[in-house]
Amino acid sequence: MKDCIFCKIVAGEIPSYTVYEDDVVKAFLDISQGTPGHTLVIPKKHVPNIFEYDPELAAEVFSRIPKIAKAVRDSNPEIKGMNIVNNNGQIAYQSVFHSHFHLVPRYTDHDDFA
Ligand code: ADP
Repeated sequence: MKDCIFCKIVAGEIPSYTVYEDDVVKAFLDISQGTPGHTLVIPKKHVPNIFEYDPELAAEVFSRIPKIAKAVRDSNPEIKGMNIVNNNGQIAYQSVFHSHFHLVPRYTDHDDFA
């Protein structure tokens, strides 16, 4: 979609650090790094928020999240847990209106992500 920053990342028009990619999703490091390794998982297809998924795409995207979460966790033995966060709508703190899932690794000594 024109003017969507995450569509531009999917198209390679904006650089990103790719963690995982296949035909359905792309996972890349969040520029803000709430904690080290903070990763976003997005559908390659433009979907604004959780309310706009069709069931088939939801199944394809959601089924990939555990594998990506495990890979991020396994990248660093200091990662002890992970928050998975999905904001929908401005009132819910969504700032990029292309659906995405935050994978936020948690460390014993990096506990400042609210
Ligand atoms: P919030 O900004 O409140 O976290 P979202 O849930 O919509 O709202 O998250 C959007 C995320 O996209 C933010 O964590 C932000 O750091 C990230 N982001 C924005 N632009 C880029 C980019 N070019 N590359 C990687 N991450 C980005």
